[in-house]
Amino acid sequence: LMQLFRPLDLLGWVYRTIRQGLVDMAAMFDLIDTNVEVADKPGAPALIVDRPSIVFENVDFGYDKERTILRNLSFEVPAGSHVAIVGPSGAGKSTIARLLFRFYDPQGGRILIDGQDIAEVTQESLRAKIGIVPQDSVLFNDTIGYNISYGREGASEEEILEAARDSAILPFIKRLPDGFDTEVGERGLKLSGGEKQRVAIARTLVKNPPILLLDEATSALDTRTEQDILRTLNRVSKDRTTLAIAHRLSTIAKADQILVLDHGQLAESGTHSELQAARGLYAEMWARQAEERQEEAPA
Ligand code: ATP
Repeated sequence: LMQLFRPLDLLGWVYRTIRQGLVDMAAMFDLIDTNVEVADKPGAPALIVDRPSIVFENVDFGYDKERTILRNLSFEVPAGSHVAIVGPSGAGKSTIARLLFRFYDPQGGRILIDGQDIAEVTQESLRAKIGIVPQDSVLFNDTIGYNISYGREGASEEEILEAARDSAILPFIKRLPDGFDTEVGERGLKLSGGEKQRVAIARTLVKNPPILLLDEATSALDTRTEQDILRTLNRVSKDRTTLAIAHRLSTIAKADQILVLDHGQLAESGTHSELQAARGLYAEMWARQAEERQEEAPA
């Protein structure tokens, strides 16, 4: 009988998740793959964030018992700082983001935000504090204004306008036939990758979270758009605790700290120049990507 209910459970969960304003998570992580077992503890209090530091404390995690993905992982993102996670494909970067959102609980260790174990607080309060900018955002078949306001229920027109301005999508919207009332998505206007990402940034600004989770791969964008978006993201992440998952190293050279993940363990950490000087995995990855960039550049 349980077998029968599982798909219904999942549907209910997807609905609740989307209602909670997590739609961008769908783009970042495969929802169907996601565990539905994580539940709030009875009487769990809300997360209260004053100084939004993030601490991973000896975290062990595997999606199944046979395979450990993160091993005794410890790091700190001090409140207001910008930390980037890099590492080879499959190293566990997105897994860290999923744990921070509490899609799963670690098997060992703890994850703390502002000193509170995220497993002890309500998921709703946790997720309200984290804004996500995924590589590829989900847009609803609705107006562009609605798509931005989705960041927070009850956002005022003023707030939506301001978010559009700060995410640099306003000039684009002003050129649309019906401005903010223009329909987008399958039924209406199609947006480019860069425009979609700006809508995601605007949505995040409306939400105004103290913590930002960025999935910085912008490989689908041309170099100029990528640079523009990065500048916008840098502005938006100022004064917010920011954890960025970076696939391209060129985008994170300015991070306060770079964590180099390899096979679920912290291989190195430091600033760009410290890691370059250390001549380890990071320096190696940097040299390889620099070579690739040269190959891509027209002669
Ligand atoms: P990439 O840079 O390629 O996105 P990543 O560093 O973000 O990689 P993760 O997505 O965190 O890597 O995956 C780490 C490991 O966990 C991989 O070996 C992956 O196959 C495995 N994995 C990811 N999601 C699941 C899942 N839902 N169930 C089982 N294994 C998973």
